[in-house]
Order: sequence, then C-alpha cells, then structure tokens
Amino acid sequence: MASFLYTAHAVRVIFGSGTVVEVEREAERLGICRGLVLATSAQVDHAVAVEQALGARASGIYPDAQMHTPVTVTQSAMRRVEALRADGVIAIGGGSSIGLAKAIAVRTGLPQIVIPTTYAGSEMTPILGETENGRKVTRSDPAILPETVIYDVDLTLSLPPALSGTSGMNAIAHAVEALYARERNPIIDLMALEAIGALHRALPRIVDAPGDAPAREQALYGAWLCGTCLGAVGMALHHKLCHTLGGMFDLPHAELHTIILPHALSYNAPAIAEVMTKLGKLLGTSYAPDALYTLAQRIGAKTALRDLGMAQGGIDAAVDQAFANAYWNPRSLERDGLRALIADAWAGNPPARTD
Ligand code: NAD
Repeated sequence: MASFLYTAHAVRVIFGSGTVVEVEREAERLGICRGLVLATSAQVDHAVAVEQALGARASGIYPDAQMHTPVTVTQSAMRRVEALRADGVIAIGGGSSIGLAKAIAVRTGLPQIVIPTTYAGSEMTPILGETENGRKVTRSDPAILPETVIYDVDLTLSLPPALSGTSGMNAIAHAVEALYARERNPIIDLMALEAIGALHRALPRIVDAPGDAPAREQALYGAWLCGTCLGAVGMALHHKLCHTLGGMFDLPHAELHTIILPHALSYNAPAIAEVMTKLGKLLGTSYAPDALYTLAQRIGAKTALRDLGMAQGGIDAAVDQAFANAYWNPRSLERDGLRALIADAWAGNPPARTD
C-alpha cells in the first residue's frame, strides 16, 4: 500500500476572462486601502489597467521589477512602499513581478494579490529566489505565498508566441518533475497529468494563433495546476540543472527549461518506469522525452544551449557545479551520464534513448 503526505496551500484563486476587474473587491477582502501595483517596464499598460480597476484602493505603480528578483530592486521598491504607506502589493506579470511582490511580502507581512500573465507558475508557490552579488538564493516560507491569485485569460493574449511556448514548457517541467518527486502523492499526480495534457494540446495552437482564446484558457488552466505541483512537492535534476546553468551562464529562464526538459527526463527514465508509461500514454508516444523534444520544435523554440550563447567549454564546469550541492533525484547522479545529458542539450541533439 502506498503511503504519502499531502500539504495543501491555501490560496484563493479566481479564474476566467475579464476577471481583472475583481481586483478591487479582493483588495477590500484583504483590507488593502493603499495597494502598490508592481510590474516590469514592459507591462506598464497592464499595470495602469490594474491601477484603474483598483480605483481608490491604489496608491501607485512600481514599474521596475526585474528577472531573478535582484535585492537592489526590492530595496528600491521597499522605499516606495514606505513613501506611499502602501498596505498591500498587487503584482501583474510573470515570475519577475511576482518575485518582487513575494520579496516585499516576506519582509513586511503585507498581503499580496497576484495577476499572472505568463505560465511560469510562481504565483502558486511559497518559494522565492533572490539575487544578490551575482548569487541566486532560494528560500521557502508560508509568508511568501500570495493570498489571492486572479487569472485573467484576456491578459495572456498579448504574451508573444515564442515566450508563450517556452513559458508553457517551463510549466510542463514543474508537472513532469512532480510526477517523480520524493513527496509525490495521488492529488499532485492527477493535477500534473491533467496539466501536461492541457499544455501539450494548447501550446501549438497558441503559437499558430496567439489570439486563440480557448487555447489560451487551456494553457492558463494548465499553468495554474503546474504551479500548484511546483508549490506542493520538491523538484529534482531538471530544476537543479536549470538553476545551475542559468546562474553560471546567465541563460534565459523559460528557454533554458525548454531545452533541458527532454534530456533530464531521458536521464531519469530508467528509474521511473511507471511515470514513463503514464506520460507515454498521455502524450501518445512510446518515449515521452521524444514528445517533449518534438513539442519544443513545434513551438519554434531553440533546442540547443549553444544557441542561447553558452560556450562548449562550459560543459565540464557545469557538470562539476551540478555535483557541488547534493540533492535528491530518482536516479543517482553519475558523472558520465550527466556530462552526456548536458553535451546533448548543448548540441541540440534529440534526447538519448535510455529505456
Ligand atoms: P518574466 O516575468 O520575466 O516575463 C518575461 C517578460 O514578458 C517581461 O518583460 C514581462 O513583462 C513580459 N510579459 C509577461 N506577461 C506578458 C503578457 N501577457 N504580455 C506581454 N508581455 C508580457 O518571465 P517569467 O518566465 O514569467 O518569470 C521568470 C522569473 O520567475 C525568473 O526569475 C524565475 O526564477 C521566476 N520563477 C519563480 C518561481 C517560484 O516559484 N519562485 C517559479 C517560476 C519562475
């Protein structure tokens, strides 16, 4: 008999089309009277729309959120929080805006409303990665988890097709690793398989027609479930490797996940026969890593680390680094296998057959 532990995180989720207008009512529920809207400079138009929807409950916009949550940016935003006497933060955007909201919340205890417009899934996790002096440090704390998440499919229509594809692959990676996580459990298995199926169907449609609202709805629904998986169980080789490579070579987050995923799954395949059978059935293939590699090609994503600018000479350094911090993985880490994985990903080869 299987035994397991399941921890549910309490987040209020509002999902639909045009749901951004709910932000004022949600602010009222959380007692926010002077909400500060957080965004990246690329999404000031979205931030203005949120500020308008908040009406008298808005105190201003901080439009300088950045990828990997630099502590210097958080300090600058904290000065704005104090100057405006903000009593809550409302993040609109992807993991960059959401990371800033989490960084402020964990320092101040202020409530957060998050309106995700990518598929990265950060909104559903109590995890925060912050960068200081060139190092990214990740921590987990219940105070990091947003109180309310508003998914508005309309706000995802402007996500460029290329970023939609790789962001969706980033989400799929959370669900794939959840299926073989040490803390895996039946609820998370259900969510992970449902999510992978939804995104696998939706992403090619979105890349072909970015305004396809039903496909956008499926993708955002899948991304919500993937984020829930990420927040509920620990991740393994794929996420650790992306963390290592991203930090060492300053590689773009979602594109990096897209390239590594088929190879990481292929590495783990011999240790996760049952998961491979479930994934193969779901994706209509005899070897799931091939289906993920084909999906990456279908959405027009890069499939080689060298095309992201990583030098071949970095492969061995990456292998060394991947061994430096021990972590759990269903298959033990073997130097030759890991080197082959990174070399294949660097060259853009199809994933090795390990079944
Ligand atoms: P991002 O938030 O950096 O967004 C990428 C760019 O796309 C930004 O310029 C953004 O403004 C723009 N954009 C986003 N949505 C848009 C839309 N609908 N229309 C037009 N432009 C839009 O990228 P991301 O991939 O969502 O997030 C990556 C960051 O999130 C990384 O720092 C990563 O480490 C972090 N992350 C954290 C977790 C966690 O649980 N802590 C999970 C996943 C990702």
